[in-house]
Amino acid sequence: NSTTEWQAQDRHHIHPFSDNAQLHEIGSRVITKAEGTHLWDSEGNRLLDAFAGLWCVNVGYGRKSIADVAYKQLQELPYYNTFFKTTHPPVAELSKLLVDMTPKQFNNVFYGQSGSDANDTIVRMVRSYWNLKKQPKKKTIISRTNGYHGSTMVAASLGGMNYMHELADLPLPGFVHIRQPYWYGEGGSSTPEEFGKLCAKALEDKILELGAENVAAFIGEPIQGAGGVIIPPMTYWPAIQEICKKYDLLLIADEVICGFGRTGHWFGSEYFGIESDFMTMAKGITSGYMPLSAIMVSDRVADVLNSGIDFSHGYTYSGHPVSCAVAIENIRILREEKLVERVHDETGPYLTKRLWELLDHPLVGEVRNVGLMGGIELVKDKNNRKTFQPVGDTGTICRDHCFRLGLVMRATRDTMLISPSLTWTKGDIDDFMKLTQEALDLTAKDVGL
Ligand code: PLP
Repeated sequence: NSTTEWQAQDRHHIHPFSDNAQLHEIGSRVITKAEGTHLWDSEGNRLLDAFAGLWCVNVGYGRKSIADVAYKQLQELPYYNTFFKTTHPPVAELSKLLVDMTPKQFNNVFYGQSGSDANDTIVRMVRSYWNLKKQPKKKTIISRTNGYHGSTMVAASLGGMNYMHELADLPLPGFVHIRQPYWYGEGGSSTPEEFGKLCAKALEDKILELGAENVAAFIGEPIQGAGGVIIPPMTYWPAIQEICKKYDLLLIADEVICGFGRTGHWFGSEYFGIESDFMTMAKGITSGYMPLSAIMVSDRVADVLNSGIDFSHGYTYSGHPVSCAVAIENIRILREEKLVERVHDETGPYLTKRLWELLDHPLVGEVRNVGLMGGIELVKDKNNRKTFQPVGDTGTICRDHCFRLGLVMRATRDTMLISPSLTWTKGDIDDFMKLTQEALDLTAKDVGL
């Protein structure tokens, strides 16, 4: 097939998060192959992937050992469910592995196939928990503006993206949002430390407004990813943790992006010292080679949920054997190649150093990263943090220049997002910086800076 044939066939495809009318008009870019940290399109162009697919291909593309494990599992037991008192070796082995690598309160794990359904499941668990505890009024879940927790009706309600709410009449009742800890954009003259505490105080204010007896849980990504790599000040999470304890809220850490090494720690919760009741995992758990999500459930919650009732919830593909086998191999690679340590000791600090050089660029207001999760925020006037109007156009221009130059970097509003495979070397970071500099120069020219 040729590019135009694929594009013609693809006109029947409703793409996620896309203006499909426009896309069908211009034609999709057809990605045909990937190896290491590079992609190839159907025209033979080679692209450096600074986004690891969608924040997920942590071990890089083209891992033969993962393909071999999947092939073997497909032959031995391609599918079986975990309903009705059955299990199978991959799901059993992965469960023990996850319990051993997560904080001590987690001795329980539930499986789904995506981050969205995992968060949906957590909401069901939270409600069941409080109902079983005979506190049925405790229903409202608090999350944050610009948080992203997925696309199902419940996950999008948890999320704080207005553009995802508007046409679907969301959020559903029982989901409310507080401000995000976005110091560069909203901190004004406060120090990051002060601002972190102020944003945590917004949680307490909201609980008091609603009545603690009505509030069930708080959910947050340790670092907000899709919202623009919003890294909270270090004062934020300890204060949130304390407020959750004080008002008896369950705490949910959405580790879908931060988990499995992205921050140079196995989990973002480790970096901030978060002790949660639930951890949502997806993406990096299989490096995207197969769909899988896992929810770590604390003993406090599991002891109540496992109190002699049926937990009437599950998916045909909960604990899919091929996905679980792939996850085990993926974790083996992360460990054996010490990829998390490499991000922590070597490539994370090197990315920080190189990103800081961009602060001399007229377009760049702030750079930020923890490990290999980073953002480059583009502003109209860096002296007073003035944003471009309309917000988002400049990020799109820069993203398109990146593409033309052979670099995949996504933009949220006017922040360029960085989330490469954890296999990136310093050399890959140098290549990335060279292309980014070029794209920024071209963008600056386009917007008259
Ligand atoms: N939670 C977070 C923090 C995410 O970033 C995402 C996806 O980007 C999700 C949940 C939803 O995961 P999925 O797209 O697998 O449903």
